[in-house]
Amino acid sequence: MTYTHPQLSASTHWINGRFDGTASSHTDVTNPATGALVASVPSGTAEDVDRAVSAARAALPGWANTSTADRAAVLTRLAAEITEHNEEIAQAITVEIGAPIMFSRMAQAGLPAAVAAAVASIEPNIDWVEEIGTSLIVREPVGVVGAITPWNFPLQQTMTKIAPALLAGNTIVYKPSEVAPLTAALLARAVTRAGAPDGVFNVVYGAGKVVGEAIAAHPDVDMISFTGSTAVGKRLSVVAASNVKRVGLELGGKSANIVLEGADIDLAVRETLVNSWSNGGQACGAWTRLLVPAARKDEIVTKLVAAAAGYSVGNPLDETVRLGPLASESQWERVNGYIEKGIEEGATLAYGGPGRIPGLEDGAYIRPTIFSDVDPNSTIAQEEIFGPVLSVISYEDEEDAVAIANSTIYGLTAAVFGEAEDALRVANRLEVGQVYLNGAGLNMLAPFGGYKQSGNGREFGRHGVEEFTEVKAILIGGSTGASVAL
Ligand code: NAP
Repeated sequence: MTYTHPQLSASTHWINGRFDGTASSHTDVTNPATGALVASVPSGTAEDVDRAVSAARAALPGWANTSTADRAAVLTRLAAEITEHNEEIAQAITVEIGAPIMFSRMAQAGLPAAVAAAVASIEPNIDWVEEIGTSLIVREPVGVVGAITPWNFPLQQTMTKIAPALLAGNTIVYKPSEVAPLTAALLARAVTRAGAPDGVFNVVYGAGKVVGEAIAAHPDVDMISFTGSTAVGKRLSVVAASNVKRVGLELGGKSANIVLEGADIDLAVRETLVNSWSNGGQACGAWTRLLVPAARKDEIVTKLVAAAAGYSVGNPLDETVRLGPLASESQWERVNGYIEKGIEEGATLAYGGPGRIPGLEDGAYIRPTIFSDVDPNSTIAQEEIFGPVLSVISYEDEEDAVAIANSTIYGLTAAVFGEAEDALRVANRLEVGQVYLNGAGLNMLAPFGGYKQSGNGREFGRHGVEEFTEVKAILIGGSTGASVAL
């Protein structure tokens, strides 16, 4: 299948409110369902980053001095722009990463509009100026923000950064993933149409090692907001230390989902698969470890396997398909390798398995897979697989369940199914930034972010906006004076 993204016809960076000259080399974007070429985007350089940072720096004073209400109005219009382009965005993301089209419409394109609207809506609830005693505590923008994002939710992961950063008065240099860059130009135009002045939002395409590191090292960038793997997050922190930049990290996960005695098992089984296999399991917060009471394991695995049969794999543009291909061939190699590793390490293969799917050999299609009897210390129980691979781990009692849940380097999200009081007690003992009880839905205003090596930032709602602010205390004196230096 060929696909030409209408917004990418210029194929250049977006700097200071316009497409920016011509690039000397380009990187191909391929469709993981077919391997076909979809588009080419510029392979940016440190010089491109420099131009974008200069534009963002020049635009900063003007943007920072607009009122928060005016900036919220820009976000409200941005939400409308994204909604208007829902189908175009969904098609582009389906073609670049293989997300099923129904999921792309609802989540990949739908959520970013909801995020922009939600951030706009909380503008009146933020303490932009607060009084503590006779002092004024003022929230100001951090400055020029470098936003670096992964491929799994290309627009959504970007919007959770740029909406709060813009509301707080920052200007932005954005580097999309090379795997999934197709919505970046559309976003740039939408931000401009929504009313952000030239230079407030800039896009530089290119490789992480070149463009990402140039943004992280740039002396005129004040903050990096990064979503991606833990390994790259660690590297970025080192590079960004050169001018003591603030670094917000949203990193990997290995979320535990604990089914307690007393849980509604049918609800738990249904929600487990919806969560852990949505977007092909390529979600940082996916509940990939299912912890079950040892005595209930067989019953739960039987129900999981029955429910798994409803997850059709195929062409992601087919509206009935629930799992498309993985996002790339390298993703296929990675996930298939973990499935082979699970078998090698002695887990019981209950559903799916390694290898290509007959009839779908041309794309990066993988079988959704369930392992049971998984050793909590084994590779597939400890490392982030980032594919539709569910590990069922048996536990003896609540102490054991909590210890297993907390036993990885990650701490992003968790889930608990059980009687309300039991579930809440267990939730309070989990070392994670977000816990879902009994299949709770997303809350656009509740903070999302990691403990441990899942990161240090918080996105969404008031907490997400505060990330992008500096706090200034203005201490008001009188005629007697009482100065003290600390
Ligand atoms: P990744 O390899 O870490 O890449 C993320 C971004 O960083 C890409 O734009 C990448 O550029 C860039 N990058 C790579 N090396 C860099 C470097 N040395 N300096 C600066 N930037 C660099 O992650 P991914 O494979 O795209 O995404 C999957 C990961 O993201 C998973 O670990 C997942 O858990 C995590 N994730 C976390 C969250 C969260 O909210 N916590 C949400 C979604 C995903 P190129 O790839 O274009 O070269």
